[in-house]
Amino acid sequence: MNAGKCSVCGYVDQGDEVPHKCPHCGAEKENFQLLGEDPSAKIEPSSGTNEIHINLLGLLD
Ligand SMILES: [Zn+2]
Repeated sequence: MNAGKCSVCGYVDQGDEVPHKCPHCGAEKENFQLLGEDPSAKIEPSSGTNEIHINLLGLLD
């Protein structure tokens, strides 16, 4: 299973295909980044995005 992450709002879609538009912020498909199977497998539906945001903040800090 592939997951796609919206680079605009950070929404993670865990469907088999990237959605045409982000259901969260409405960004176009081009804004989605495909995530590899390993990272997507570690993402929990409820807490995954929070962890990603924390990780990104850590990288930016
Ligand atoms: Zn979005």
